[in-house]
Amino acid sequence: MAKKAGKKNSKKSSKRYVFFFGAGKAHARADMKAIVGGKGANLAEMTRIGLPVPPGFTLSTEVCQMYYDCGRKYPAVVKDQVKDCVKKLEAVTGKSFGDADNPLLVSVRSGAAVSMPGMMDTVLNLGLNPSTVEGMIRLTGNERFTWDAYRRFIQMFGDVVMGVPHHAFEEALDAVKREVKAKVDTDLSAEDLQEVVRRFKKIYTQHTKEEFPEDPQEQLWHAIDAVFGSWNNSRAIKYRQLNDIKGLLGTAVNVQTMVFGNMGEDSGTGVAFTRDPSTGKNQFYGEYLMNAQGEDVVAGIRTPQPISQLRKVNAKAYKELLEIRDTLEKHYRDMQDLEFTIERGTLYILQTRVGKRTASAAVKMAVDMVKERLIKKSEAVRRVSPASLDQLLHPMFDESEEGKATVLSSEGLGASPGAATGRAVFTAEDAEAEAEKGEKVILCRIETSPEDIGGMDAAQGILTARGGQTSHAAVVARGMGKCCVAGAGDISIDYKKKCMTAGGKVIQEGDWISLNGTKGVLYEGRIPTVDPKMTGPFSTLMKWADQAKKLGVRTNADTPHDAKMAVKLGAEGIGLCRTEHMFFEGERIVSFRKLILVAPQVRALRAAIESARTDGERDSLQEELEAPMGRYKAALEELLPLQRTDFEGIFTALNGLPCTIRTLDPPLHEFLPHDDEGQRELGEALGVPVEDVKSTVEQLKEFNPMLGHRGCRLGLSYPEVTEMQARAIIEAACNVRKKGKKVHPEIMIPLVGTATELEISRQQVDAVAKAVLKERKMKKSQVPYKIGTMIEVPRAAVTADEIAEQADFFSFGTNDLTQMGCGFSRDDAGRFLGEYVRMGIYEYDPFQVLDQDGIGKLLQMACKLGRKTRPKIKLGICGEHGGDPMTVRFCHGVGLNYVSCSPYRVPIARLAAAQAALEK
Ligand code: ADP
Ligand code: MG
Ligand code: MG
Repeated sequence: MAKKAGKKNSKKSSKRYVFFFGAGKAHARADMKAIVGGKGANLAEMTRIGLPVPPGFTLSTEVCQMYYDCGRKYPAVVKDQVKDCVKKLEAVTGKSFGDADNPLLVSVRSGAAVSMPGMMDTVLNLGLNPSTVEGMIRLTGNERFTWDAYRRFIQMFGDVVMGVPHHAFEEALDAVKREVKAKVDTDLSAEDLQEVVRRFKKIYTQHTKEEFPEDPQEQLWHAIDAVFGSWNNSRAIKYRQLNDIKGLLGTAVNVQTMVFGNMGEDSGTGVAFTRDPSTGKNQFYGEYLMNAQGEDVVAGIRTPQPISQLRKVNAKAYKELLEIRDTLEKHYRDMQDLEFTIERGTLYILQTRVGKRTASAAVKMAVDMVKERLIKKSEAVRRVSPASLDQLLHPMFDESEEGKATVLSSEGLGASPGAATGRAVFTAEDAEAEAEKGEKVILCRIETSPEDIGGMDAAQGILTARGGQTSHAAVVARGMGKCCVAGAGDISIDYKKKCMTAGGKVIQEGDWISLNGTKGVLYEGRIPTVDPKMTGPFSTLMKWADQAKKLGVRTNADTPHDAKMAVKLGAEGIGLCRTEHMFFEGERIVSFRKLILVAPQVRALRAAIESARTDGERDSLQEELEAPMGRYKAALEELLPLQRTDFEGIFTALNGLPCTIRTLDPPLHEFLPHDDEGQRELGEALGVPVEDVKSTVEQLKEFNPMLGHRGCRLGLSYPEVTEMQARAIIEAACNVRKKGKKVHPEIMIPLVGTATELEISRQQVDAVAKAVLKERKMKKSQVPYKIGTMIEVPRAAVTADEIAEQADFFSFGTNDLTQMGCGFSRDDAGRFLGEYVRMGIYEYDPFQVLDQDGIGKLLQMACKLGRKTRPKIKLGICGEHGGDPMTVRFCHGVGLNYVSCSPYRVPIARLAAAQAALEK
């Protein structure tokens, strides 16, 4: 007696690993996702708020960890708690495991803290054996249903738990169907299904060398093992990798009383979204199938009905469902994705979670919910993932071009919006292989499964012949923000021949096709795309974001077109205007090459003059310099007006916003042709012997151009180039200012490592600027130019206090700072950085997400030192990191004045900056 009491006490004090839910009460809550997983937390929460959830219990994610730590076993405390929960479940339901008169049947479901759709497997109808089958037949009076449930259970248990190949069961089922001449599964009679069960058990035994387990307890533990085991299957690992899901303990396991949607025409099952996940419209949205179980809806085997039809079939259940929709939205204050089952007219909710949505739906819902007073503006701003805005900012088809294109199929669903053009491929492996080669591909599948995820990720768009809005392809594509047309029933795909027939044409592998994922249309050939239009809710949300953010957002733009686009997207100026791109275009490259072909000669002669020992020597060298100097100056004079016009265009587009312009940065040899053909052509075009071209190329060649004669080093060797650029900038500024527009040019010297480099460069620029203002009779207050530097050489970061003496501003060039700071070549590091990230050496690719612990420290140090010398120094970041949400948050924390990124990432950075400001 005493012993028993003692045991009871110790049990009471032990930690909870298994969480019960049922009869209106639950151990867990919605905010316990980390411990009981998303599915478990919401099953508990829905139970608490009185929704009709079949009772059950959840083994926590900690058990998953223990399972792996204990060599795939469980501590006694877990076993005990499961035993207790089973007892409770039996009490609540009035059914028991293995009871032939009133058997308890359960599902065993996975569910991690983050939803991983289709990644881990579910077993339904667990608890069936020859004696409970008899009991179920007596209870339901439905022999056919019971045998069907049993064969499904054997199949799922065999496949999911024991790894019996799926197709072995499928083939046996097809064989029986053929023998009795049944077209579809529902044509099979109870006797037929009994035969299927017999064959399934045989298959099971053949593959596992074991009898199919009959003891429900044994079935249960096997299934629990399998779910925990699936946490580390390759699909789950790949999904976590692709979605950057880290730091989870494992999956939870949910054991839940079965309810049946396949008990006849008064039963059914479905999935629904409380709002339209594709457009965001406040409209109930979903699909269902009558007389069906679980996966039937998403498997795409039978075509489900739209949810609105349910009103006609079962008005009571439909009304109840609408009420639950309301309850869920008010309770969770967000769009929910739910699973329901109707068993003989009674509605049950089996799952709810925050619904995945397209970016445009996310924006619309967030804005609508503020208007509906469900959430605050700050919550709306926080709710939209900055990176997802990318989907809204991507081009769509040019409508007139789309109108002219040949439609191959229009029966598909617009499952994930956007436009995609690419070559047809028919397997996920081909998609990955072609994308690796730089090809744009469209992945065409009859339907997709979790194994296809890599290929879906690599493709521009996804096309399936089967499946609805909630099919695997549709759900995953929306999550990825990838264009998808699903269920195009009028195409037929032949995997063996790698081709498809659509609209009476045969599309072979490699043929170009286009998809409209908004309308659900497949076209032949390539269709050009146009820039997206920013819609109402988008601009509302961005306005709220701008009100919240502290950090400025500028853009990297080299042309008036890009500048205009970026300003439309909300850029508050240009943070990086690269001037070298201007030298590549059209005729300019010719003038610039003229300059390069003569420049080294000028430089060499100047050096020789400097070190000449006699006056005579000096004079003759001076004379020798005259001709090349003439050509050098002539080339510069050709370039000046071209550059000036460019800057006028940009200043005009910016309409008073600041513009940081970087002086010439890349090494000169980048502008010359490296092949014989190109060199010969250049020689001919400029009237220079090809040998001279070749020798200049040879002379300029560098072993390590990244660390070579480039950046400010060029301007110091060829001061006239910097001077020409400074003149072009200031003259353009004066011209635009005279037309009444304000201008804020910021001239930026690249690749500075020492204060003296910047001091000399600054003087060059400043002298020219002053001279131009004087010529134009203008004051600096009219053209308030600034001179500053890029901080991209580690030495500059650590001597930033000295450098700040010479700089009105710093702009962190984090691409080069990462390259030189980490010692990774930007061009070659791709070969191993993937591995580095997988091995956990770097958390992210440091060229995409700023390495905060290393390069971030350099940046912080430079900010501190810079401000010490010049408290009001302006600090910004350019380089690819400027548009990365995590880096933006870091920059906000460091207190930079602005980030600068490519035009299309400007809204992403604005939203990320707002979220950073709203944090804490
Ligand atoms: P997933 O995470 O892949 O959606 P689920 O665990 O939600 O997996 O289950 C797969 C299918 O089985 C779903 O359609 C679900 O509604 C159904 N299902 C799960 N448990 C039960 C149950 N106890 N009774 C009836 N259907 C169930
Ligand atoms: Mg589910
Ligand atoms: Mg650089």
